[in-house]
Amino acid sequence: MMQTTLRESLRFEGVGLHTGAHCRVEVRPAPADAGLSFLLGSTRVPATAEYVVDTSRATVLGCDGVTVSTTEHLLSALFAMGVANADIVVDGPEIPVRDGSASEFASAIAQCGLREQSAERRILDLEESLIVRDGDKLVAAFPAPSLRVRFIADFAAPIGTQYYCGEIDSERYVDEIAGARTFGYLHEVQALLARGLARGGSLENALVFTADGPLQPLRWPNEAVRHKVLDLIGDLALLGAWPRCELIAIKSGHQLHSSLTSALRTRLRVPSA
Ligand SMILES: [Zn+2]
Repeated sequence: MMQTTLRESLRFEGVGLHTGAHCRVEVRPAPADAGLSFLLGSTRVPATAEYVVDTSRATVLGCDGVTVSTTEHLLSALFAMGVANADIVVDGPEIPVRDGSASEFASAIAQCGLREQSAERRILDLEESLIVRDGDKLVAAFPAPSLRVRFIADFAAPIGTQYYCGEIDSERYVDEIAGARTFGYLHEVQALLARGLARGGSLENALVFTADGPLQPLRWPNEAVRHKVLDLIGDLALLGAWPRCELIAIKSGHQLHSSLTSALRTRLRVPSA
């Protein structure tokens, strides 16, 4: 399998979920072995685990005092669709949230198509199992011939306990994962707004639950856990290689996913020159 980049540049713009600011992003093709990276003014921030600066509400990457927030949905789409190399030029404090899912990113990538490059795709073959945990949250990675995810999410009613299991490849990602939206409870959203957070949040870009159920029609009965898988894949993009392993995630979030990716990254063999 060879590395790939986009055939041409893609552009997205719109409101940022957390800041409410109007943000623009252009995703440009990049040379083989360049990896995914963000260009923030004159600063280049590689999309790898070492550059994570915050995971409390979204995955924030940065260096030298500049940061970009809400990177996980765009990275999820690029990574799952097999884009190994791209420069993500950002104008604004975060990546536009669009409809709260990765659907527009994934369909734009599929429509634009990929160009094969003259270097082999970087793969991580796990040799032994790896487990990261935090209280009752856990992610375990086991050696496997391809990337497979089993995710158990457990939220307060009415979301409840949800399960997703599937092999992750670009087709399955488009059909089953990319369209799952960011979600929250109405009382949480109200509390965030009162604290000046989630300023760009609306019913157009997040799935909102009340005690009686969702305020909008669900795209799948287990849309919430599918979004957790979308986020997990976005955090895995920071590995800088495609992992061949089976992942079992229980109630995990950005922080644990980021620890997993850092731990997996130490197992990446540096390619010999
Ligand atoms: Zn998300």
